[in-house]
Amino acid sequence: MNKKVITRFAPSPTGVLHIGSVRTALYSWLYARQNKGTFILRIEDTDKERSKKEYEENIVEGLTWLGLNYDEFYRQSERGSIYKKHLEDLIEKRFAYLSKEVIAEEGQRTEVIRFKNPNRVITFRDEARGDISFDTTELGDFVIAKDFDTPLYHFAVVVDDFEMGVTHIIRGDDGISNTPRQILIQEALGAPRPVYAHLPMILAADKSKLSKRHGALAVTEYRDEGYLPEAILNFVALMGWNPGNDQEIISVNEMTKLFMLEKLQKAGAVFNIDKLKWLNKHYIKLLSIERAGEEVFSRLPPDLQKSVKENQSVFLKMIPVIIDRISNFGEVKTLVDEGEIEYFFRDPEYNKNELYGKEEHNPAVTSAYIDKLVELIGSIDQGNFTEETVKAKVWDYASEVGRGRVLWPMRYALSGRAKSADPFTLAGILGKETTIRRLQQAIKLLTA
Ligand code: GLU
Repeated sequence: MNKKVITRFAPSPTGVLHIGSVRTALYSWLYARQNKGTFILRIEDTDKERSKKEYEENIVEGLTWLGLNYDEFYRQSERGSIYKKHLEDLIEKRFAYLSKEVIAEEGQRTEVIRFKNPNRVITFRDEARGDISFDTTELGDFVIAKDFDTPLYHFAVVVDDFEMGVTHIIRGDDGISNTPRQILIQEALGAPRPVYAHLPMILAADKSKLSKRHGALAVTEYRDEGYLPEAILNFVALMGWNPGNDQEIISVNEMTKLFMLEKLQKAGAVFNIDKLKWLNKHYIKLLSIERAGEEVFSRLPPDLQKSVKENQSVFLKMIPVIIDRISNFGEVKTLVDEGEIEYFFRDPEYNKNELYGKEEHNPAVTSAYIDKLVELIGSIDQGNFTEETVKAKVWDYASEVGRGRVLWPMRYALSGRAKSADPFTLAGILGKETTIRRLQQAIKLLTA
């Protein structure tokens, strides 16, 4: 049987696209792509009160940003005539009937459409959990529509999966208890039974239900915090599935090849924000300097953006130093607030006492060290001025007189900060002219 695989992601637009729903979307997408099938996005907006356009937009925006492209798009609110046709059909075939009801609160009489329950035990296979059985008798003759124009959720889902030819339903495990009733409707419609796979819940680190409090945000919020789509997808992919080893880094291409419904985990997956940060850092390091530079630049305040534009080469050279300090681009803002970026573009103010370092306290001695540094570093050709050449020039001298005595003042003269990258890295980024100028300013302060 070589039927074309059709999967769907069917969110109700009653909230933003959360990290948990991304997993459902990703697995459905992977399965379709792996089998050269079709991936459908179906917005389940039958609940008119709770469904909001802005949530639908957020869902689409999140999926697009992640690259989870869909081949077909539907809105249940636009499919009324299809549900109506099937309701009429079921009534005609006596699988459903109109039933007069009294609405309790209003005391009015109305007519709803009920499904004639055959009261059977339904057994279905779940790819993640094996066989599941359910006696549907307790459901009674359940309502499938309030009237011909107002189908209820379970009915619309089954009609849509049938009409759209969905072959594999991958969804959260809150769908398990809905499945037997949906299968009854399916059988009445004469629809084939799709393959089911219900994903275990995602839990917080303390094993409670995952919520915003645990760092679980909308995907668009992760984007705004400077996470990369490849990190989110890697993270989400391995929450509830693994390729059969303890591999932690997996690309979309690789997961498309390796994904298997049979390897879904049964136990709840735990959401670990530190893992996501670690992955994000990994993927940030893979970006080109230019691309990372754009991300950093977009998060700088206007005055620093101006400095960057005037001194592009310093900016590009300092990107690795920035990347080393962050796990998402949102943290660039913290670096800015702590003054960690500014000193690359503006000569720092010094605190004279800090210039000596811990081992020395004699201005004449320290200024003589820095004099020697100016002489050594000054002899390097402009065109050959790098972190490595500076280190090669300075290292032996520093080792001879004491590294702390020489390298601390050098580093402090270049950064004006008690903590910063090492002096060679700084010199390499700042370039010859600025390096020499800052060293000379330090000498001036010491000898004033
Ligand atoms: N619309 C349902 C939800 O957002 C999912 C339906 C399904 O996947 O069958 O929870």
